[in-house]
Amino acid sequence: MSAPAIAETERARAAAQQPALDYIRSGQTPFFRLPLCDAERRRGSRERAGAVVLGVPYDGGATVHAGARLAPYHVRRVSAFLQPFHPYHQVDVFEATRAVDGGNVAFPPFDPHAVREAIRAEVADVLAGGAVPILLGGDHSIALPALRAAAERHGPLAVVHVDAHPDTSDDAVWGDAYHHGTPLRHALEERLVEDGQLYQVGVRAPSADALEASFSRRRGARVYTAFETAERGVDSIAADVRRRIGDRKTYLTFDVDAIDPAFAPGTGTPVPGGLTSREAIQLVRGLAGVSLVGMDVVEVCPALDHADLTCHLAAHLLYEGLGLVALRADAG
Ligand code: MN
Ligand code: MN
Repeated sequence: MSAPAIAETERARAAAQQPALDYIRSGQTPFFRLPLCDAERRRGSRERAGAVVLGVPYDGGATVHAGARLAPYHVRRVSAFLQPFHPYHQVDVFEATRAVDGGNVAFPPFDPHAVREAIRAEVADVLAGGAVPILLGGDHSIALPALRAAAERHGPLAVVHVDAHPDTSDDAVWGDAYHHGTPLRHALEERLVEDGQLYQVGVRAPSADALEASFSRRRGARVYTAFETAERGVDSIAADVRRRIGDRKTYLTFDVDAIDPAFAPGTGTPVPGGLTSREAIQLVRGLAGVSLVGMDVVEVCPALDHADLTCHLAAHLLYEGLGLVALRADAG
C-alpha cells in the first residue's frame, strides 16, 4: 500500500475508533474508544451511526445488591483496549457498524416510572435514527423499556434472554411488579415478544413456586437450562435458536449472572452452576446472521467485582453484539 493510501486508511480508522495513544493522552473513556455522539449531535449529523452504545446507570430495580448503576463507567474504562478486528467473524467491527458511544441515558434515579420512560424514549430515538441500540445497564429492569421501544418500532420480537433467572416474577415477593426479576413477564404479557419466540438460556435459579418456574414455558418460551447447555454444548443450542428465529427482528438481553460466579463474580444475585465465559461468548457468536435490532448487557456490579473480571466480560459481550451488527452491515 502506498503512503497516501496508508494515511487514508489510518484516517478512516481514526474516524471509526480513536487511536489508543489519543485515548491515553485524553484520559477520556468512551466505550471502545468510539466517537462520543449524544442524541442531539446524532440528529444534527449527516453521518448515520449504525450502532449506538448507551450506558443506563440505574439500579433502582435491584432487589439484593445495589451498584449496577456504576457499570457504564467501569465497563467503558476496560473496553478502551478492545481491538476492532473480530477474530472469528473476520470483520472490522467498528468500521462495519459505524458505532458511536451515545453517552448515558440521563435521569434522576428516584422515580422508576420516569426512568423507564426516559430509557424507552432514548432507545426509540436511536431506533428512529436507523441504528441498533447496544445498552449496558444497570439492573435488568432497564430491559423492559428497551424492549418496548424495539417492539413499538418493529412489532413483536424474537427475544434471546440469557440469565440464571427466568425474570418472570410478579409483585408477590417484593411488593413491586417492575423490579429486576420481572422484565420478561411484562414483555410476554405486553406481547412485545412474538408467540413462541422467547429463548431463555442459562436458567438455573430456584423460583418462588412451581407456577413462577413454569411461567415462560406456559407462554411458549423455549428454555435451555445451564445444565442442558453444558450437556448439549452451547454451539448446538445457539444453532437451534438461530434456526428457530430465522429472519425475525431479534433483541438480545444478556444478564451477566447467566455466567458462573467463578467467571463473573461482579453481580448482585450470583447463582453457582452457570455458563463459562467462553460459552457465553460462543453463544453470541453462534447467533451470526441474526437480524439484531437491540441488545443489552445488564447486572454488572463493579463494587462486587474482582480484577475487573466481570467488567471485561461485559465489554466483550457488548463487542460480540456489535459483531452481529457488523456481520449484517458487512453483508449489505
Ligand atoms: Mn435478569
Ligand atoms: Mn439474573
